[in-house]
Amino acid sequence: MYYFFSYGYGWLTPLRSAVKVGIGGLGSAFSRRSLDAFIKTSPIAEKLAGGKIVRYEAHRIPMQGPSPTIATKRVLFAGDAGGFVFPGTGEGIYYAIKSGKAAAQAVAKAMQGDPLTEAYEREAHKAGLLSLREVNFLEDTLASPHEAERYVRRLKKLARGFQ
Ligand SMILES: Cc1cc2nc3c(=O)[nH]c(=O)nc-3n(C[C@H](O)[C@H](O)[C@H](O)COP(=O)(O)OP(=O)(O)OC[C@H]3O[C@@H](n4cnc5c(N)ncnc54)[C@H](O)[C@@H]3O)c2cc1C
Repeated sequence: MYYFFSYGYGWLTPLRSAVKVGIGGLGSAFSRRSLDAFIKTSPIAEKLAGGKIVRYEAHRIPMQGPSPTIATKRVLFAGDAGGFVFPGTGEGIYYAIKSGKAAAQAVAKAMQGDPLTEAYEREAHKAGLLSLREVNFLEDTLASPHEAERYVRRLKKLARGFQ
């Protein structure tokens, strides 16, 4: 189940004998206190009241797009490790798979003699992954209708790269 929450969103997932509760959003305003507040104001707050909290967990999503360094001499960074996340939405599963494939292709090329770092940069570029660096969703895209239109065109281009 998903519920909107100030400056982000929250969810409640029933498990067999527990409920998994989460919130997601931007900025340092999100904290354990925000999660507690969400639990207290959620639609099933009464049912959750007095329940035992088994565990707190927090995960960061790199929202700035691909890192300036996605490869070193012997290491390739794919998925979250390389910053392959869509900056506007935090969507990272698709880009993790895509960058993982690009990394595998780069390794195959390196085994045929290509320098590894350059091969990965090339494969990531070919897959449209590096254009994620150009997306600055909050500051640029939402600033004007013209920018929003440009953003949609960029998405179309990106989608073609994934076909
Ligand atoms: C709450 C939340 C909701 C999200 N919702 C969405 C969504 O709806 N759609 C979407 O596209 N993306 C979503 N994301 C983002 C998405 O989950 C990530 O971008 C994506 O999973 C990144 O994949 P990855 O393979 O890089 O890393 P991960 O999926 O984090 O995989 C890394 C794996 O490496 C393991 N690991 C770590 N250290 C070691 C070690 N030393 N040795 C061995 N293994 C290790 C970890 O246990 C983990 O299994 C969400 C993220 C969060 C936190």
